[in-house]
Amino acid sequence: MNQQKNDEQLRPILDYINTLALLKETAKSEAKSYLFQVIAGNSEKIATLFVNDFKNQDKKKLHKQLQKNVVIPILDLAQKYKVGAMQAASVYAKAIISEVRKSRLKKSFWDWLSSVKNKEKEIETEAREMLANRLENAALGYELATKSLMSDLFLAGSNRAAKERITEEIAGGKRETGTFFNASAESAGSYIWQIADLAANEAFQSENLERMKWITFFSNSCPDCEDLHGKVKTYERWQIHGLPRSGVTVCRSHCHCVLVPVEYPVEIAKPMSLASGREILQRINEETRSKTRDVGNKKQEPSVDLGDDEED
Ligand SMILES: [Zn+2]
Repeated sequence: MNQQKNDEQLRPILDYINTLALLKETAKSEAKSYLFQVIAGNSEKIATLFVNDFKNQDKKKLHKQLQKNVVIPILDLAQKYKVGAMQAASVYAKAIISEVRKSRLKKSFWDWLSSVKNKEKEIETEAREMLANRLENAALGYELATKSLMSDLFLAGSNRAAKERITEEIAGGKRETGTFFNASAESAGSYIWQIADLAANEAFQSENLERMKWITFFSNSCPDCEDLHGKVKTYERWQIHGLPRSGVTVCRSHCHCVLVPVEYPVEIAKPMSLASGREILQRINEETRSKTRDVGNKKQEPSVDLGDDEED
């Protein structure tokens, strides 16, 4: 396969990864600033809840508060990015499927899109459940870690001093609180990948593109992903093994790998670095721009558009 053709084939995958990475960063920082506002901004109240709960007077109140002020709002916040994630997934899947279809597929893109639309609720519920679980685990971990910190503080000094220290920790987003904020924000961000991956894979499954190849992108430091690069399994086997970003690799939810149907004609000899991925994208975009200029003013800048139908 010639280099230029190969680069073109890389484009939908690189666009997909870049779009989702961007959405994820936005969601993460939004989640973080929300947590700072709500949790750190009410450090005294939260510290009191911790202390009361710790002394067993107010059992479960803190848990309820965390549920109400963290889990549910962060779920809702992450949902905001659902449309962007679904769109990235359909653009990506459309590009892959229409390329593969040149040689073997029959279903029209719109048949596929409506089949995914029918599944949208299912995909959303599944992704939302995963996110809720992660947030709840993060909240639980936070409670436990803070309580053990408190018992150290209570042992070391007066109750008042201990409470002051906890208030300070919460207000500053330090230690346990900081870890909790990071974990919650990270979970909100992974929701975006999750929902897009589910939608894209749903599309591939509906085309019977069962056999998927693991492609490792931007994974400069994760040995697990580097080992997985190029491996082929059915989607079902990958689910059992663990999908990208499911936490099965050292890079956990920071993973930028994708599963691409083996039928998709792209060759990537070794895991691709962030720099070379961006370079390729930039080069393709420049080439497309200059081609568009050659055609004249008739054609506008190429853009992501779900509205055009298949050429077949
Ligand atoms: Zn990875």
